[in-house]
Amino acid sequence: MTAYMDHKDLANETIDAARARQIADGVHDVLERIAAAEAAAGRKAGSVKLLAATKTRDVGEIMAAIDAGVRMIGENRPQEIVVKAPGLVRLLSERGFTIGCTADVPPVSLGASVPSGSAPVQASPAVAAAAEGADGDAAHAALATHIPFHVIGQLQSNKISKVLPVVDGIESVDSIELAEKIARRATMRGVTVGVLLEVNESGEASKSGCEPSHAIDLAKRIGSMGGLELQGLMTVGAHVDDENVIRAGFAHLRRTRDQILASGAQGTEHCTELSMGMTQDMALAIEEGSSIVRVGTAIFGARAFV
Ligand SMILES: *Cc1c(COP(=O)(O)O)cnc(C)c1O
Repeated sequence: MTAYMDHKDLANETIDAARARQIADGVHDVLERIAAAEAAAGRKAGSVKLLAATKTRDVGEIMAAIDAGVRMIGENRPQEIVVKAPGLVRLLSERGFTIGCTADVPPVSLGASVPSGSAPVQASPAVAAAAEGADGDAAHAALATHIPFHVIGQLQSNKISKVLPVVDGIESVDSIELAEKIARRATMRGVTVGVLLEVNESGEASKSGCEPSHAIDLAKRIGSMGGLELQGLMTVGAHVDDENVIRAGFAHLRRTRDQILASGAQGTEHCTELSMGMTQDMALAIEEGSSIVRVGTAIFGARAFV
C-alpha cells in the first residue's frame, strides 16, 4: 500500500458543505474556461469533455465534483481505484448513474462472489432503460447517465486484473506488450476495453508514453487486437514555460491522430479522441484540438500529496 494512503481515508464519503462548495466552484470555473476556449478556437460548444483527475481525492470529494457537473473521471493508481470504486458505484447508482464497466458487468465483478445459478443481478436504472426499447431514446438516456472511468496513470501489467472490473477506459497504453496483456484479460472477461495510446510528445525522460515516431505503427497494431477498442491518443504537455513548445506537442499529437484515421487500417476507425490538456495548459490544448481535458488542481485545489 502506498504510504500517502495511510494519511487519508480515500473511501471517505462525507465532506463538509464548505469543501463541497469549493469543489462545485472549481467545476463551474473549469467548465467556463472550457467553453471560453472552445469559443476562442471557433470550436463547437460541448466538443471538449472534462475528465476530473481524481488522484488523492476521496469518494466524498469526487461525488461533489459529479454533483457539480463532472461526467468523466480518471485515476492514476490501481490501489486508489479499488478503494474508491465500491462507494462510487453505490452513491452513483442511488443517483441513477452507472460508472465505468460496472454498467455492462454485474457488480459481482467488484469482488463479491455470487454463486452460479443464483438470480440475475439487478440491472442499474440506466442499463434497464437502455434495454427497454430498441429506439435511440433509451440508449441516449443511458449515455447521459453513464460516467466513464479511465485509468490515466502508468499501469503495471500485474495490476490489469485489479482495474478491469471497474474501469471502461485505459488512456495510458504505451507499448504493444501492455496492450496485448490488457487484450488478453479483456477477452477472458468477455469485455471490450476502450484504450488510448499514450505518446510522449515532449520527450521528457520523466514521462511515460511511446516515442512519437512509433505511434502510428503501434496504433495500427493495437487497433487489430480483440478485446480492445482504440479510441484515440493521449499525451501530457511539456513541462516548460514556452507556450510554443507545449503547443507543438499537442499539434503533433493531432496530426498523428489524423494520419491514423486516414490510414483506413482496420480497427483504427474509432481513433478519434485527443486526451490532452491539464490545469496549466487546457486552453492551449483546446486550441490544438483536444477532445478530453484531464483536470485535477483547478477543480479540487492543490494536492496535499502527489
Ligand atoms: C494529475 C494528472 C492530471 C491533472 O493534473 P492537474 O495539473 O492537477 O490538472 C492529468 N493527467 C494526468 C496523467 C495526471 O496524472
